[in-house]
Amino acid sequence: MNISESFGCNEKGHLTIGGADAVELAKEYSTPLYVLDEQEIRKNCRGFVNSMNEYYGGNGLVLYASKAFSCKEMYRIVMSEGMGADVVSGGEIYTALKAGFPMDKIYFHGNNKTYDELVFAIESGVGRIVVDNIFELETLNSLAAKYGKKIDVLLRIKPGVNAHTHDFVRTGQIDSKFGFALETGEAMEAIKAANASVGINLVGIHCHIGSQIFDISPFEYAAKVMLEFIEKIEKDEGIEIVELNLGGGFGIKYLDSDNPAPFQNYMERVSKVIKSECAAREIKTPYILIEPGRAIVGAAGATLYTIGAVKEIPDIRTYVTVDGGMNDNPRYILYKSEYEAAVADKFSQERDFTVTIAGKCCESGDLIQENTKIQKPEIGDTLAVFSTGAYNYSMASNYNRIPRPATVMVNNGESRVIIKRETYEDIIRNDV
Ligand SMILES: *Cc1c(COP(=O)(O)O)cnc(C)c1O
Repeated sequence: MNISESFGCNEKGHLTIGGADAVELAKEYSTPLYVLDEQEIRKNCRGFVNSMNEYYGGNGLVLYASKAFSCKEMYRIVMSEGMGADVVSGGEIYTALKAGFPMDKIYFHGNNKTYDELVFAIESGVGRIVVDNIFELETLNSLAAKYGKKIDVLLRIKPGVNAHTHDFVRTGQIDSKFGFALETGEAMEAIKAANASVGINLVGIHCHIGSQIFDISPFEYAAKVMLEFIEKIEKDEGIEIVELNLGGGFGIKYLDSDNPAPFQNYMERVSKVIKSECAAREIKTPYILIEPGRAIVGAAGATLYTIGAVKEIPDIRTYVTVDGGMNDNPRYILYKSEYEAAVADKFSQERDFTVTIAGKCCESGDLIQENTKIQKPEIGDTLAVFSTGAYNYSMASNYNRIPRPATVMVNNGESRVIIKRETYEDIIRNDV
């Protein structure tokens, strides 16, 4: 198994995560348990930051897309790596604020930011608001008058590039709830409206073409489309665009067979496109933002469960039930997402048992993975599911009134709790 450098095997034949014995972690902190490897997270941060410096002369900022995994400690780590952050809600702004994150390095996204969230963002000094629609622009313009200041915005553009894991299409992605469409002229109308709004300072444009993208060519293509638009804005309307935010979506390994392009190649190849396009179009090279989320934390994490039952249905399948499920990892029930799993106690052995991993929720569809290979499962074993660092804790729920697991950060074998396990008291906290 080679998901990331976070996972290894020790002399006991146990799985290690960030150098810590996973079976011991399960004992010490109980299960289910989210475990993250700080070294891997920091390595990924540095990979993006260094490539921005090396290939684009540092004329940009790497933003951590914090919806992937948001908690105070994560903002502290990202901050210490010199990055900014992208947020999508008042709750994420609040968490970043409480972690002492520099608010001027925050970009606020979302297709329906509420009035209260916009007020909170302005009062907190959020650096940029990425405007999704014309109503939001009008609200911001009136808030600017109220607060007596100009608000720095980017506009979210639908560039007509829609990428998936292995391929992308170049046309007709008008049907998305996010942003202004390029093809219909809607985007240019929005640019003019923003430029004409006295309270708005139009700084740049943004696009985000998808998630879990394995190839770099759709990003190159999106950069080209966006620069063509910038040229048009500058030449036809005389409006200067200084920031280009190219979004996130860099793919990671979920399966051993996955083969995403190393993200270091992203800035190398996209920088080339940006420089040559700008030279050809005689426009200034913009300040670039990129927004990796999953690529920072995904493969740095695993979830540990305890196996509670092994139910063999002859000639059909074998269910291995664990003490978590769709409440801590809703990605399988939502998207049929694929994961690798292993028995942490027997990590050095062959994975030659085909099982379906089921959760404990009252829901037949509550599965973590179907027909996957693990070592021979026994009651009480610790089962690890890999690449769960992104979009697991952040998407977790209290369905069935199950408390959310703790998150433990491991650094060179040393572990610490960064999010406490919820208690039953937490579950009823807001009940009246
Ligand atoms: C979700 C999102 C990201 C991050 O996506 P990943 O696939 O986790 O890299 C970045 N930017 C925006 C606007 C997003 O919505």
